[in-house]
Amino acid sequence: MFTKILIANRGEIACRVIKTAKKLGIKTVAVYSEADKDAMHVAMADEAVYLGPAPARESYLKGELIIEACKKTGAQAVHPGYGFLSENADFAKALAENDIEFIGPPEGAIIAMGSKSAAKEIMEEANVPLVKGYHGENQDGDFLKSQADEIGYPVIIKATAGGGGKGMRIVWKEDDFASSLASCKRESAASFSDDKVLVEKYITKPRHVEIQVFADKHGNAVHLFERDCSVQRRHQKVIEEAPAPGLSEETRSKMGQVAIRAAQAIGYVGAGTVEFLYDEDESFYFMEMNTRLQVEHPVTEKITGQDLVEWQLKVAADQKLPMQQDELSINGHAFEVRIYAEDPNQDFLPATGTLLHLNTPEESEHVRIDTGVTQGDSVSVHYDPMIAKLIVWDQDRNAALARLRGALAQYQIVGLTTNVPFLAALAHSQGFEDLDLDTNFIERYKDDLI
Ligand code: ADP
Repeated sequence: MFTKILIANRGEIACRVIKTAKKLGIKTVAVYSEADKDAMHVAMADEAVYLGPAPARESYLKGELIIEACKKTGAQAVHPGYGFLSENADFAKALAENDIEFIGPPEGAIIAMGSKSAAKEIMEEANVPLVKGYHGENQDGDFLKSQADEIGYPVIIKATAGGGGKGMRIVWKEDDFASSLASCKRESAASFSDDKVLVEKYITKPRHVEIQVFADKHGNAVHLFERDCSVQRRHQKVIEEAPAPGLSEETRSKMGQVAIRAAQAIGYVGAGTVEFLYDEDESFYFMEMNTRLQVEHPVTEKITGQDLVEWQLKVAADQKLPMQQDELSINGHAFEVRIYAEDPNQDFLPATGTLLHLNTPEESEHVRIDTGVTQGDSVSVHYDPMIAKLIVWDQDRNAALARLRGALAQYQIVGLTTNVPFLAALAHSQGFEDLDLDTNFIERYKDDLI
């Protein structure tokens, strides 16, 4: 096992990784920007290295500074968290060239999954089910429209380099295709410096069900069941839960096997997530694979009793997976909500300010809070305005939902506007309790929620 690792991230995920490293007796090195001098992750780590000014491109995104920090401190491996450099193949490669272990997949797997269209081609060959669509090289407008006509409307146009819910357009009828294609290409070029798109059938009432997979360097791979992330706003997850309610054992096992096959098709190592669209008739289709630890990994930890960061560290240190498939099982039900500094009444405009007063529910086996800030800290304009993740667990969904309602009622934040009232309304909504779940949930119930 490593004796010292560097965490190339900030906020809750940096703190989360440091906790497990401490538990395993591994020394930790934090990195920080000007804005984060007094941040919790810096205080928690054994050592900290200053990177640069607040903007991420001048600090957290500077791979060369992180490599320098490893050399200076003797860190043997880098945990990238999520976001920032976590899915940057050049960074993974640069670390390898400097004999520093990247706690993530091989560079090739990141590249293979970095493009939604290339990923789909690989998955098609591996017999992983895909939504009907075109994901080839031809980008001619008339040609793409003829593909859309053949697929049948509605279709969705997606930036192949896209992520974070950006660069997507739903097209309901033939007449709108050309203008949607143009605006999708404009947004993709602006956001991802790449205007290549794919076109596929738009499933009108899908659920988002994703499988957590893990592979080691010795050819072993397992899945740690699924998460349902159907409650989304503008294609971004708001509530995640595990297991996915109503999923049959047969489908669960089938999805797990397909996800393992997907991971093996690209020689995957470490923690990965295979995202599927799950349709009303229990059919499911590969959407994409995320080659990092996901924000919502704690719900999987709660229902399996496993520490996924510990698994990541062991796998990176060449150890075998801690468990085999038949040793893993689901216990109870977990929810996660993302508490954000944002104003639901102003179209979820990000808010900034100081946490003047913070009162959080008590942590227990039922309640977990992953955060990187405490009372007195500020949420700045420089980074994602997430304040905390609230995770609850209980024996079944209804009991866990009651925990969620109770914990949200106890969450008090004074000093900046947050989405806590919105999350509470979601947790109390009848539709959510009654499993009226699909990715349009928030849109459908928005008058009751905001
Ligand atoms: P990103 O990388 O931006 O997260 P994804 O490809 O993962 O993009 O899609 C994000 C969300 O968009 C999905 O969770 C789902 O809600 C919606 N979506 C994507 N593809 C389809 C589709 N073919 N039909 C219906 N909804 C889709």
